[in-house]
Amino acid sequence: MNLGPQVTDLRWILPNKVLRIKASDSGRLEGVRYSPDQLSNFLVERNNNSFEVKKTYLKAKTKITRKQVIIDKDAPNLYLAGKRTGLSDNIIMKLSYVFQWDISFVLDIRLGDTFTLIYADLYVASKKVKDGEILAAAYTSMGKNHTAIRYEGSGNRSNYYTPKGLSLRKEFIRDPVHFSHISSQFNLRRLHPIHNRVIPHRGIDYAAKHGTPVVAAGDGKITTSKQNSAKGKYLVLRHGQLYTTKYLHLSNFASNIEAGSSVVQGQVIGYVGSTGLATAPHLHYEFLVNGNHRNPRTVKQSKALPIPKSRLQDFHEKSSRFLTELSLIQGKAIYANAENNMEK
Ligand SMILES: [Zn+2]
Repeated sequence: MNLGPQVTDLRWILPNKVLRIKASDSGRLEGVRYSPDQLSNFLVERNNNSFEVKKTYLKAKTKITRKQVIIDKDAPNLYLAGKRTGLSDNIIMKLSYVFQWDISFVLDIRLGDTFTLIYADLYVASKKVKDGEILAAAYTSMGKNHTAIRYEGSGNRSNYYTPKGLSLRKEFIRDPVHFSHISSQFNLRRLHPIHNRVIPHRGIDYAAKHGTPVVAAGDGKITTSKQNSAKGKYLVLRHGQLYTTKYLHLSNFASNIEAGSSVVQGQVIGYVGSTGLATAPHLHYEFLVNGNHRNPRTVKQSKALPIPKSRLQDFHEKSSRFLTELSLIQGKAIYANAENNMEK
Protein backbone atom coordinates (compact mmCIF):
# COMPACT_ATOMS: atom_id res chain seq x y z
CA MET A 1 0.00 0.00 0.00
CA ASN A 2 1.64 3.23 -1.08
CA LEU A 3 -0.08 6.46 -0.09
CA GLY A 4 2.70 8.82 -1.00
CA PRO A 5 4.93 11.14 0.98
CA GLN A 6 2.07 12.16 3.34
CA VAL A 7 2.52 8.99 5.37
CA THR A 8 6.30 8.86 5.44
CA ASP A 9 6.21 9.24 9.21
CA LEU A 10 4.33 5.97 9.55
CA ARG A 11 7.45 4.18 8.50
CA TRP A 12 9.15 5.51 11.60
CA ILE A 13 6.85 4.07 14.23
CA LEU A 14 8.61 4.38 17.55
CA PRO A 15 8.59 1.90 20.41
CA ASN A 16 5.95 2.60 23.10
CA LYS A 17 3.63 4.31 20.60
CA VAL A 18 0.24 2.82 19.96
CA LEU A 19 -0.89 2.04 16.46
CA ARG A 20 -4.66 1.49 16.33
CA ILE A 21 -6.00 -0.73 13.59
CA LYS A 22 -9.65 -0.93 12.69
CA ALA A 23 -10.98 -4.01 10.93
CA SER A 24 -14.44 -5.08 9.79
CA ASP A 25 -16.15 -8.21 11.18
CA SER A 26 -14.86 -10.14 8.18
CA GLY A 27 -11.30 -9.08 9.01
CA ARG A 28 -10.94 -6.49 6.28
CA LEU A 29 -8.62 -3.58 7.11
CA GLU A 30 -10.73 -0.43 7.56
CA GLY A 31 -8.32 2.07 9.02
CA VAL A 32 -5.15 2.87 10.90
CA ARG A 33 -4.66 5.60 13.48
CA TYR A 34 -1.26 6.68 14.78
CA SER A 35 -0.03 9.61 16.87
CA PRO A 36 3.73 10.09 16.60
CA ASP A 37 3.59 12.80 19.27
CA GLN A 38 0.98 14.57 21.34
CA LEU A 39 0.39 17.20 18.69
CA SER A 40 -0.15 15.24 15.49
CA ASN A 41 -2.42 12.45 14.40
CA PHE A 42 -2.51 10.22 11.31
CA LEU A 43 -5.71 8.60 10.20
CA VAL A 44 -5.74 6.26 7.21
CA GLU A 45 -9.31 5.22 6.34
CA ARG A 46 -10.86 2.98 3.76
CA ASN A 47 -12.96 4.73 1.18
CA ASN A 48 -14.49 1.96 -0.96
CA ASN A 49 -11.49 0.26 -2.51
CA SER A 50 -8.86 2.86 -1.78
CA PHE A 51 -7.47 4.48 1.36
CA GLU A 52 -7.53 8.13 2.33
CA VAL A 53 -4.97 9.80 4.54
CA LYS A 54 -5.87 12.50 7.00
CA LYS A 55 -3.21 14.20 9.02
CA THR A 56 -4.45 16.44 11.79
CA TYR A 57 -2.61 18.68 14.16
CA LEU A 58 -3.93 19.63 17.54
CA LYS A 59 -3.87 23.29 18.35
CA ALA A 60 -1.30 24.00 21.01
CA LYS A 61 -1.33 27.09 23.12
CA THR A 62 1.75 28.72 24.54
CA LYS A 63 1.57 29.52 28.21
CA ILE A 64 4.09 32.01 29.51
CA THR A 65 5.34 31.57 33.06
CA ARG A 66 7.39 34.04 35.04
CA LYS A 67 9.33 32.92 38.10
CA GLN A 68 11.93 34.06 40.51
CA VAL A 69 14.20 31.54 42.22
CA ILE A 70 15.97 32.62 45.39
CA ILE A 71 18.97 30.76 46.75
CA ASP A 72 18.84 30.64 50.55
CA LYS A 73 19.74 28.46 53.52
CA ASP A 74 16.80 26.10 52.99
CA ALA A 75 17.57 25.73 49.28
CA PRO A 76 21.29 26.40 48.83
CA ASN A 77 21.58 25.37 45.19
CA LEU A 78 19.71 25.98 41.96
CA TYR A 79 18.19 22.51 41.88
CA LEU A 80 16.60 22.70 45.34
CA ALA A 81 15.56 26.35 44.97
CA GLY A 82 14.12 25.65 41.51
CA LYS A 83 12.06 22.70 42.78
CA ARG A 84 10.73 24.81 45.65
CA THR A 85 9.62 27.43 43.12
CA GLY A 86 7.76 24.78 41.12
CA LEU A 87 10.13 24.45 38.17
CA SER A 88 10.38 21.11 36.36
CA ASP A 89 13.73 19.28 36.21
CA ASN A 90 13.81 20.06 32.51
CA ILE A 91 13.46 23.82 32.97
CA ILE A 92 16.07 23.84 35.77
CA MET A 93 18.46 21.99 33.46
CA LYS A 94 17.76 24.41 30.61
CA LEU A 95 18.30 27.36 32.92
CA SER A 96 21.72 25.99 33.88
CA TYR A 97 22.58 25.51 30.21
CA VAL A 98 21.74 29.16 29.45
CA PHE A 99 24.43 30.33 31.87
CA GLN A 100 26.84 27.37 31.67
CA TRP A 101 29.62 29.48 30.11
CA ASP A 102 29.49 32.21 32.74
CA ILE A 103 28.63 30.49 35.98
CA SER A 104 29.89 27.43 37.79
CA PHE A 105 26.68 26.05 39.29
CA VAL A 106 28.74 24.04 41.73
CA LEU A 107 31.19 26.66 42.95
CA ASP A 108 29.81 30.15 42.25
CA ILE A 109 26.28 30.04 43.67
CA ARG A 110 25.90 32.03 46.90
CA LEU A 111 23.10 32.52 49.42
CA GLY A 112 21.01 35.50 48.33
CA ASP A 113 21.60 34.92 44.61
CA THR A 114 18.47 35.07 42.44
CA PHE A 115 17.41 33.67 39.09
CA THR A 116 14.57 35.35 37.23
CA LEU A 117 13.12 33.56 34.23
CA ILE A 118 10.39 33.73 31.63
CA TYR A 119 9.54 30.50 29.84
CA ALA A 120 6.89 29.15 27.51
CA ASP A 121 5.18 25.74 27.87
CA LEU A 122 2.98 24.15 25.20
CA TYR A 123 -0.55 23.17 26.21
CA VAL A 124 -3.30 21.28 24.39
CA ALA A 125 -6.66 21.88 26.07
CA SER A 126 -5.54 22.08 29.70
CA LYS A 127 -2.80 19.50 29.45
CA LYS A 128 0.89 20.37 29.22
CA VAL A 129 2.35 18.52 26.25
CA LYS A 130 5.78 20.06 26.05
CA ASP A 131 8.10 21.67 28.55
CA GLY A 132 8.90 24.89 26.93
CA GLU A 133 11.87 27.03 26.16
CA ILE A 134 13.39 29.71 28.30
CA LEU A 135 12.75 33.01 26.53
CA ALA A 136 14.69 35.23 28.90
CA ALA A 137 16.54 34.84 32.17
CA ALA A 138 18.63 36.82 34.60
CA TYR A 139 21.07 35.77 37.29
CA THR A 140 21.93 38.24 40.04
CA SER A 141 24.77 37.63 42.46
CA MET A 142 26.20 40.18 44.86
CA GLY A 143 24.94 43.10 42.80
CA LYS A 144 26.20 41.65 39.53
CA ASN A 145 23.63 40.91 36.87
CA HIS A 146 23.82 38.43 33.97
CA THR A 147 20.95 38.68 31.50
CA ALA A 148 20.15 36.26 28.68
CA ILE A 149 17.64 36.74 25.86
CA ARG A 150 16.77 33.91 23.49
CA TYR A 151 17.01 34.85 19.84
CA GLU A 152 16.69 32.66 16.75
CA GLY A 153 20.04 32.91 15.08
CA SER A 154 20.91 32.00 11.54
CA GLY A 155 20.67 28.32 10.62
CA ASN A 156 17.72 27.72 12.96
CA ARG A 157 20.04 27.61 15.92
CA SER A 158 18.63 29.40 18.91
CA ASN A 159 21.08 31.20 21.07
CA TYR A 160 21.13 33.35 24.13
CA TYR A 161 22.45 36.89 24.01
CA THR A 162 23.16 39.75 26.39
CA PRO A 163 20.90 42.83 26.07
CA LYS A 164 23.60 44.32 23.81
CA GLY A 165 23.41 41.34 21.45
CA LEU A 166 26.62 39.58 22.50
CA SER A 167 26.50 35.79 22.56
CA LEU A 168 26.64 33.98 25.89
CA ARG A 169 28.18 30.97 24.17
CA LYS A 170 31.90 30.66 24.82
CA GLU A 171 34.75 28.32 24.05
CA PHE A 172 34.53 26.56 27.45
CA ILE A 173 31.73 25.70 29.82
CA ARG A 174 32.55 26.25 33.49
CA ASP A 175 31.75 22.79 34.91
CA PRO A 176 32.50 19.59 32.97
CA VAL A 177 29.96 17.73 35.13
CA HIS A 178 26.32 18.73 35.52
CA PHE A 179 25.59 20.38 38.87
CA SER A 180 22.51 18.27 39.55
CA HIS A 181 24.74 15.21 39.87
CA ILE A 182 27.03 16.76 42.45
CA SER A 183 26.28 15.06 45.74
CA SER A 184 26.82 18.07 47.97
CA GLN A 185 28.84 21.23 48.28
CA PHE A 186 29.91 20.09 51.71
CA ASN A 187 31.79 17.15 50.24
CA LEU A 188 33.46 19.44 47.79
CA ARG A 189 34.73 21.80 50.46
CA ARG A 190 35.83 18.97 52.69
CA LEU A 191 37.87 17.45 49.92
CA HIS A 192 39.88 20.57 49.14
CA PRO A 193 41.87 20.99 52.40
CA ILE A 194 42.94 17.35 52.34
CA HIS A 195 44.27 17.72 48.83
CA ASN A 196 45.87 21.08 49.49
CA ARG A 197 47.87 19.84 52.44
CA VAL A 198 49.10 16.68 50.79
CA ILE A 199 50.07 17.86 47.32
CA PRO A 200 49.87 21.17 45.45
CA HIS A 201 46.41 21.06 43.95
CA ARG A 202 46.28 22.32 40.40
CA GLY A 203 42.72 21.53 39.51
CA ILE A 204 39.15 21.57 40.74
CA ASP A 205 37.61 18.53 42.42
CA TYR A 206 33.99 17.78 41.73
CA ALA A 207 32.66 15.23 44.21
CA ALA A 208 30.01 13.27 42.38
CA LYS A 209 28.44 9.84 42.34
CA HIS A 210 30.33 7.01 40.67
CA GLY A 211 29.25 6.89 37.02
CA THR A 212 28.20 10.56 36.70
CA PRO A 213 28.80 11.64 33.06
CA VAL A 214 31.80 13.89 32.45
CA VAL A 215 31.58 16.19 29.41
CA ALA A 216 34.13 17.92 27.21
CA ALA A 217 34.46 21.55 28.34
CA GLY A 218 35.03 22.66 24.76
CA ASP A 219 35.41 21.42 21.18
CA GLY A 220 38.72 19.60 20.78
CA LYS A 221 40.72 16.47 20.22
CA ILE A 222 41.59 13.68 22.68
CA THR A 223 45.39 13.55 22.87
CA THR A 224 45.73 11.07 25.75
CA SER A 225 43.46 8.31 27.04
CA LYS A 226 45.44 6.25 29.53
CA GLN A 227 45.58 4.79 33.02
CA ASN A 228 48.31 5.08 35.67
CA SER A 229 48.62 4.55 39.42
CA ALA A 230 48.21 8.22 40.40
CA LYS A 231 45.77 9.70 37.86
CA GLY A 232 43.81 6.50 37.34
CA LYS A 233 41.93 6.46 34.06
CA TYR A 234 42.40 9.91 32.59
CA LEU A 235 41.84 11.96 29.46
CA VAL A 236 43.70 14.96 28.05
CA LEU A 237 41.95 17.19 25.52
CA ARG A 238 43.63 19.69 23.25
CA HIS A 239 41.59 22.73 22.19
CA GLY A 240 43.48 24.50 19.40
CA GLN A 241 47.03 25.70 20.05
CA LEU A 242 46.45 27.43 23.36
CA TYR A 243 44.24 25.35 25.62
CA THR A 244 44.39 21.90 27.24
CA THR A 245 41.92 20.30 29.68
CA LYS A 246 42.49 17.17 31.81
CA TYR A 247 39.97 14.81 33.42
CA LEU A 248 41.27 12.39 36.09
CA HIS A 249 40.14 9.38 38.20
CA LEU A 250 37.46 8.28 35.70
CA SER A 251 35.71 4.96 36.21
CA ASN A 252 35.48 4.55 32.46
CA PHE A 253 35.84 6.31 29.13
CA ALA A 254 32.76 6.85 26.99
CA SER A 255 32.49 4.55 23.99
CA ASN A 256 34.42 5.75 20.91
CA ILE A 257 36.65 7.90 23.09
CA GLU A 258 40.31 7.20 22.34
CA ALA A 259 43.44 9.16 21.48
CA GLY A 260 42.76 11.00 18.23
CA SER A 261 38.97 11.27 18.62
CA SER A 262 37.41 14.66 17.98
CA VAL A 263 34.84 15.82 20.52
CA VAL A 264 32.37 18.68 20.73
CA GLN A 265 31.53 20.86 23.71
CA GLY A 266 29.16 19.08 26.10
CA GLN A 267 29.79 15.62 24.65
CA VAL A 268 30.08 12.84 27.25
CA ILE A 269 33.70 11.65 27.28
CA GLY A 270 33.81 9.53 30.43
CA TYR A 271 32.32 8.78 33.84
CA VAL A 272 33.24 9.82 37.37
CA GLY A 273 35.13 7.21 39.38
CA SER A 274 37.88 6.79 41.94
CA THR A 275 40.65 5.13 39.94
CA GLY A 276 44.23 6.08 40.85
CA LEU A 277 44.95 8.07 44.01
CA ALA A 278 41.41 8.91 45.07
CA THR A 279 39.64 8.05 48.29
CA ALA A 280 36.14 8.80 46.99
CA PRO A 281 34.55 9.17 43.55
CA HIS A 282 35.29 12.61 42.12
CA LEU A 283 36.42 14.32 38.96
CA HIS A 284 39.73 16.14 39.14
CA TYR A 285 39.61 18.77 36.39
CA GLU A 286 42.55 20.85 35.14
CA PHE A 287 42.60 23.77 32.75
CA LEU A 288 45.87 24.86 31.09
CA VAL A 289 46.69 27.89 28.98
CA ASN A 290 49.97 27.52 27.07
CA GLY A 291 50.95 24.73 29.45
CA ASN A 292 50.27 26.78 32.62
CA HIS A 293 47.53 25.84 35.08
CA ARG A 294 44.74 28.38 35.33
CA ASN A 295 41.52 28.60 37.28
CA PRO A 296 38.79 27.45 34.86
CA ARG A 297 36.22 29.44 36.83
CA THR A 298 37.82 32.78 36.19
CA VAL A 299 39.92 32.41 33.05
CA LYS A 300 39.05 35.01 30.38
CA GLN A 301 37.83 33.59 27.11
CA SER A 302 36.66 34.88 23.78
CA LYS A 303 32.95 35.01 23.02
CA ALA A 304 31.09 33.53 20.08
CA LEU A 305 29.89 35.80 17.29
CA PRO A 306 27.45 38.56 18.30
CA ILE A 307 24.15 39.17 16.51
CA PRO A 308 25.02 40.62 13.08
CA LYS A 309 24.49 44.37 12.73
CA SER A 310 21.75 43.83 10.13
CA ARG A 311 19.60 41.99 12.70
CA LEU A 312 20.44 44.05 15.74
CA GLN A 313 17.40 46.32 15.43
CA ASP A 314 15.06 43.32 15.22
CA PHE A 315 16.78 41.81 18.27
CA HIS A 316 16.38 45.02 20.29
CA GLU A 317 12.70 45.30 19.33
CA LYS A 318 11.99 41.71 20.39
CA SER A 319 14.10 41.76 23.53
CA SER A 320 12.90 45.07 25.03
CA ARG A 321 9.63 43.46 26.17
CA PHE A 322 11.50 40.69 28.00
CA LEU A 323 13.92 43.11 29.61
CA THR A 324 11.02 45.15 30.96
CA GLU A 325 9.32 42.00 32.26
CA LEU A 326 12.48 40.71 33.93
CA SER A 327 13.00 43.96 35.80
CA LEU A 328 9.31 44.04 36.76
CA ILE A 329 9.56 40.56 38.31
CA GLN A 330 12.76 41.56 40.08
CA GLY A 331 11.19 44.81 41.28
CA LYS A 332 8.08 43.05 42.57
CA ALA A 333 10.21 40.56 44.50
CA ILE A 334 12.20 43.36 46.11
CA TYR A 335 8.94 45.10 47.03
CA ALA A 336 7.48 41.87 48.47
CA ASN A 337 10.62 41.28 50.51
CA ALA A 338 10.51 44.83 51.85
CA GLU A 339 6.86 44.36 52.87
CA ASN A 340 7.65 41.10 54.63
CA ASN A 341 10.43 42.78 56.55
CA MET A 342 8.12 45.61 57.63
CA GLU A 343 5.61 43.15 59.08
CA LYS A 344 8.19 41.63 61.38
ZN1 LIG B 1 42.08 16.79 42.80
